[in-house]
Amino acid sequence: MWEIPKIKQIEPIRSITFYDYLALIDCTLKALTTSLMLTHSRAPDIMSKSALVGRFHHKALELAVTVNEKTELKKLIETEISDLQKEVDKWPHLKRCGAVSGWDEVNQSATNAIRIQRESRDGKAKVIVERTYRTVDEVLIGRPDYFTIISDKAILKEYKSTSLRTPSGIVKQEFLLQGQFYAALIFDNFPVKKVEVWLESFDGERLDFSVTHSVAEEFKAEVKSIIQKANEIIRNFDVVEELSSPSSSSCQFCKNKIFCPAFPKVQLSLELTGPVFILDAKLALVHENVNDQISKIQMVSTYTADVYEISIPTIYAEKMKLHERYLIENLLYSSSRFLWTDQSRVHRNG
Ligand code: SF4
Repeated sequence: MWEIPKIKQIEPIRSITFYDYLALIDCTLKALTTSLMLTHSRAPDIMSKSALVGRFHHKALELAVTVNEKTELKKLIETEISDLQKEVDKWPHLKRCGAVSGWDEVNQSATNAIRIQRESRDGKAKVIVERTYRTVDEVLIGRPDYFTIISDKAILKEYKSTSLRTPSGIVKQEFLLQGQFYAALIFDNFPVKKVEVWLESFDGERLDFSVTHSVAEEFKAEVKSIIQKANEIIRNFDVVEELSSPSSSSCQFCKNKIFCPAFPKVQLSLELTGPVFILDAKLALVHENVNDQISKIQMVSTYTADVYEISIPTIYAEKMKLHERYLIENLLYSSSRFLWTDQSRVHRNG
């Protein structure tokens, strides 16, 4: 059983990746990663399908520019697919996603890799894949997927495993911001006058737009101003809750919710979907086992004093002590009940 880490200290933000920048727009606490000093390590991440797809995608791109022979590339991609399948097999919640060889995102990444290998081998353009860049002031950090430099122009290509548009048909704002973020990195590292951003989704839609040097400079200034405002809050807060801004969209996939003081108080009023709820509570009672593997326990919420009955695996229930405080994460919530899922974990919360 893991222990929930406590926040010991929060340092000002000095540099930021694109996804931390997106998080910072929503909620300061959500964006804190390296500037957060914890009492001890967090439990390892539970692998999501999208994280594994992303990892595969990056590996396929790396192979595309380091392997010269098409046959060799195909063989190595097959090996990656088989390794991915082994990883997926370790996670019960991913079993329902079916065989990896049937995942559209994986097949699209493999096709892209073969196309990129061809462009990289035959073209005169310099192809750059998956390297970490920093802006001159070291504030923005990132690894663009793939870009080419042709004379004084860079073409940045980003392959997306989701649709480029919102359900109402508007291009997703985060992809436009990502283009500007990576363009800022390219301008600070290569003598180019323009960056063209080409976006391609796995369902085949393509979009492109240009970022000029002055637009990238404005964007950098905007990022720095957001960091500056966050740092003012970080330097002056009295209680950690002042750093949190809960909302349905920002809390849904937040990894800091396990030590966020605001989330447990508001989670039931947010429009959250799937196994993303937490129960921070003291153990009040362990009932008889429901069966060989499942026990029913009663817990009293730390925040509301409400009593919840929940069925959890007996291997966890056996290790829990009466009146001790625990945090159960990745629960479903339905009909006023928390429900255990194949992604749930119990942590001590002393
Ligand atoms: S759970 Fe919500 S409020 Fe708390 S840190 Fe995450 S995004 Fe912010």
